[in-house]
Amino acid sequence: MAARLALSRWRAAPAAAGRGPLLSCRRWSGAKADTVYDVVVSGGGLVGAAMACALGHDTHFCDKKILLLEAGPKKVWEKLPETYSNRVSSISPGSATLLSSFGAWDHICNMRYRAFRRMQVWDACSEALIMFDKDNLDDMGYIVENDVIMCALTKQLEAVSDRVTVLYRSKAVGYTWPYPFPMTDSSPWVHITLGDGSTLQTKLLIGADGHNSGVRQAAGIQNVSWNYDQSAVVATLHLSEATENNVAWQRFLPSGPIALLPLSDTLSSLVWSTSHEHAAELVSMDEEKFVDAINSAFWSDANHTDFIDSAGAMLQYAVAFLKPTKVSARQLPPSVARVDARSRMSFPLGLGHAAEYVRPRLALIGDAAHRVHPLAGQGVNMGFGDISSLVHHLSAAAFNGKDLGSMSHLTGYETDRQRHNTALLAATDLLKRLYSTSATPLVLLRTWGLQATNAVSPLKEQIMAFASK
Ligand SMILES: Cc1cc2nc3c(=O)[nH]c(=O)nc-3n(C[C@H](O)[C@H](O)[C@H](O)COP(=O)(O)OP(=O)(O)OC[C@H]3O[C@@H](n4cnc5c(N)ncnc54)[C@H](O)[C@@H]3O)c2cc1C
Repeated sequence: MAARLALSRWRAAPAAAGRGPLLSCRRWSGAKADTVYDVVVSGGGLVGAAMACALGHDTHFCDKKILLLEAGPKKVWEKLPETYSNRVSSISPGSATLLSSFGAWDHICNMRYRAFRRMQVWDACSEALIMFDKDNLDDMGYIVENDVIMCALTKQLEAVSDRVTVLYRSKAVGYTWPYPFPMTDSSPWVHITLGDGSTLQTKLLIGADGHNSGVRQAAGIQNVSWNYDQSAVVATLHLSEATENNVAWQRFLPSGPIALLPLSDTLSSLVWSTSHEHAAELVSMDEEKFVDAINSAFWSDANHTDFIDSAGAMLQYAVAFLKPTKVSARQLPPSVARVDARSRMSFPLGLGHAAEYVRPRLALIGDAAHRVHPLAGQGVNMGFGDISSLVHHLSAAAFNGKDLGSMSHLTGYETDRQRHNTALLAATDLLKRLYSTSATPLVLLRTWGLQATNAVSPLKEQIMAFASK
């Protein structure tokens, strides 16, 4: 069955000719004897580096040769910079558990992170809100600078340097796939050509090279993708006064969601998704105007209408009557006083999903397999979830002495993750569309939907459980 699936997947790949430098030619004959790795991870961003770490620390991989290829330079710090980075991620408890499993979370704790215990999400067009909180004071998640996570992963990669080789400033420029069945004059492994002309081979290639994945393109895997009409503006913000600052805030404006994520008692990180033109304006306007724009985006009621407010109030009364127990009350977000110089930056947003995550001797993880709008703060968490699943399947294969590149366990990974990731991608895309309008029927629908969800604790708990994986 697995062999049949493998063959059909490779037959589905496009013909080799005419597809640019990264294209596979599916056959490699007469090659000189390159180094053969058990696993090569192409792309050492947050997800690829964590994947190499997880394999390097897995006991069943102790006799395996692993290589991590990263086109960029090694990122090391002599000491933690005082200034916070403008790129941060909301890390779920499930992701923190994965990072703990190979020692990276301890480094993060020794550097810096901020736990949050509540999340308030509300609509700029009505009074509707949803408050996620943990009664037992457990952390809902953690805001961590991407550079801090990367630094922790680099330290843990160094700890397993006997098993994991890392090549920085090494770009893979070509991948050549083996035939699905052995041929006398062909190699059974994937061949990789690097930018400097050197070549190597691997029994399993893991593509972690981001949303424009060269690995995915070279394999001819279909990718459903579109660009959103939005860019995300990020910045590091100073609050007007010190607070407990343990709430993640997100307000849905008709132009896109704006989020304030806690970094310390006095600092928060901004992720404001808006039209490309407005994003460009926000990045270039003077500091005072920028701070006013943020405060107004969180506080202004300019998008409210009497009709929606009355309709929302009616449902609120009905809920209070039917369910007299406490429904989480609105809290006021902190106000912003100033922005860190040079911390403003914008990133175009899009959605992407690979039709297949695996092929024989190939697996895609992270943004190479799926790209999601940051409104749910799930992109890197989905990538870390991919790692947990793939390591689980590969570790079992290594323990049983199976071929790591075989479809028999790679399909297990694909099934696990596509189920989770497609649900998240669809829900995030739906939310993005539902909130990108101020049309009355849709505002009414989402107002009632949000209020009802806020009132139904088991539903909220289910959402929290799904998002904390
Ligand atoms: C504004 C914004 C806010 C976000 N906030 C959150 C959040 O709060 N929580 C969350 O979970 N997610 C968030 N995300 C999403 C998250 O940042 C991404 O999902 C995550 O960084 C993807 O990591 P990756 O390692 O898969 O890909 P990338 O970060 O794209 O890494 C790919 C790596 O591969 C390397 N590479 C590429 N091609 C080659 C090659 N040919 N050879 C060798 N190396 C190569 C690149 O140099 C790069 O280092 C956010 C995204 C944005 C834009």
